[in-house]
Amino acid sequence: MNHTNSERLYTEALQHIVGGVNSPSRSFKAVGGGAPVFMKRAQGAYFWDVDDNKYIDYLAAYGPIITGHAHPHITKAITKAAENGTLYGTPTELEIQLARMLKEAIPSMDKVRFVNSGTEAVMTTIRVARAYTKRNKIIKFAGCYHGHSDLVLVAAGSGPSTLGIPDSAGIPMSIAHEVITVPFNNLETLKAALEKWGDDVAAVMVEPIVGNFGMVMPKEGFLEGLCKLAHDYGALVIYDEVITAFRFHYGSAQTFSGLANHEAIQPDLTALGKIIGGGLPIGAYGGRKHIMEQVAPLGPAYQAGTMAGNPASISAGIACLEVLQQPGVYEEMDRLAALLTEGIQASADRHGIPLTINRIRGSFSAHFCDHPVTNYDEAQDTDSEAFAAFFRHMLSQGINLAPSKYEAWFITTAHTEQDVEQTIAAAEESFRRMSANK
Ligand code: PMP
Repeated sequence: MNHTNSERLYTEALQHIVGGVNSPSRSFKAVGGGAPVFMKRAQGAYFWDVDDNKYIDYLAAYGPIITGHAHPHITKAITKAAENGTLYGTPTELEIQLARMLKEAIPSMDKVRFVNSGTEAVMTTIRVARAYTKRNKIIKFAGCYHGHSDLVLVAAGSGPSTLGIPDSAGIPMSIAHEVITVPFNNLETLKAALEKWGDDVAAVMVEPIVGNFGMVMPKEGFLEGLCKLAHDYGALVIYDEVITAFRFHYGSAQTFSGLANHEAIQPDLTALGKIIGGGLPIGAYGGRKHIMEQVAPLGPAYQAGTMAGNPASISAGIACLEVLQQPGVYEEMDRLAALLTEGIQASADRHGIPLTINRIRGSFSAHFCDHPVTNYDEAQDTDSEAFAAFFRHMLSQGINLAPSKYEAWFITTAHTEQDVEQTIAAAEESFRRMSANK
C-alpha cells in the first residue's frame, strides 16, 4: 500500500504543528514511529486516505462516531444548525431537548451542564465535588484516563496507598499530592486509601466500565463496594462515562444490563462526552440536584464556556441519539462484534499467538497476552511489539485501528457482515505473517 502523500504531508505538518499531530494519540510513536496516515474522506464505516487507499475504520474517532462517518441524519442536523447560525451566546431550546434526553437515559443526572470536551466535563465534576464536600483530595484508578487537566494526569505513587506523582511535566507536586491512585477492581486498596486519607477525599472518580486500558468490566461487587466505601467516608462518587455512555445500550453504565444492582451503583456526578455530540465537540456533566446547585450562577463553583451548548454540537448530539433510539441498533453492533471477535480469536489460536479479547457488546479490546486483563498492570503486561506488528499488517490490508495497544475497537451502526468477514481475513493474514516472522 502506497503512503507517499501521507509521508509528504507528515513532513510538512512537522514544520507547523507540534509533533505533526493535534493529539498525541494520533502519532504512530507507539507502533514504531513514522508518518501516520492522513485521511481525506470518511463515509459510513470507511476512510479514504490522501493516497486514495480505502480502509474499514474501527477507530471511530476514539469513540464518538458510533453511527459511522457522515451519517445522513446527523449531517442534515449539522447543516440545518449551520444555516441558522452556529453560535449564539444565548440559551436555545435545543439545549433543553438534549439535556432532557440525557436525563431520561441517565436517571442519576437531575441537572446537566454542557461544556466542550470530556476533559472539561471531568475537570468540572472535580471542582463541584470539592465545592460541595469542602475537601480537596480525589481518588482515581490506575490506567483510567480522564482527560488532560492537571488533577487527573497524576500517576500512582510508589505504594498502593501513597499520594500521586505528576504524569506530565508542568503539573505541580502540590496538585499531584491531592490525588491518590489505586488499582482498578481492587476494593482493599481503595479501602486502605480511604482509611488513610478519607477525611480529605472529595470524590472517588472512576470509569465504571474502563475504556482506556482496553475494555474492562468491573468485577462483581466492585462498583457497589466503591460507592459504599466512598459514601461511608463522606466522599462523592464521580463516574467518567465519556466513553461508556450510549456505548453498550441506550443509556450509560449506570443502567447497563451487563451490570447488576443498579440502585447500589448510582454516582453523585457523571461526566459525559464523545457520542453525545454526534461527532462535534462536546462534553457534559450532571448529577444530583443539591450537588449541581453548587454551580454558578446558582452556587459558588464557577464554570463557564463561550462555545458551550452551541447549536451545532447540540443538534448533532440530538440527531446521533435519535439514530441510537432506533430498535435493534445495539443488538446488531453486538452481533457483528461477536462475529468479529470469534473470528479473530480463532485465527490467533490457530497461529499460536496469545490473544485475550475483552468484548462488551459492540466494543472490544484485543490484548497480546495469555492472561486475563482486569486492571492496568495486566494491560501493560502485554506484548507491545506483537501489537505494533499486528497494527501495521492490518493497516497494510486496509483496516484502520488505533495506534495503541490500549485502545478499543468500535463497531458502528454502519459496519456490515461483509466488513467483518474482510477484517477476519485480514487478521488471519496478519497472524500468518507474524508467526512466519517469529
Ligand atoms: N474521559 C474519558 C474516559 C476519555 O476516554 C476521554 C478521552 N479519550 C476523556 C475523558 C477526555 O475527553 P476529551 O478528549 O473530549 O477531552
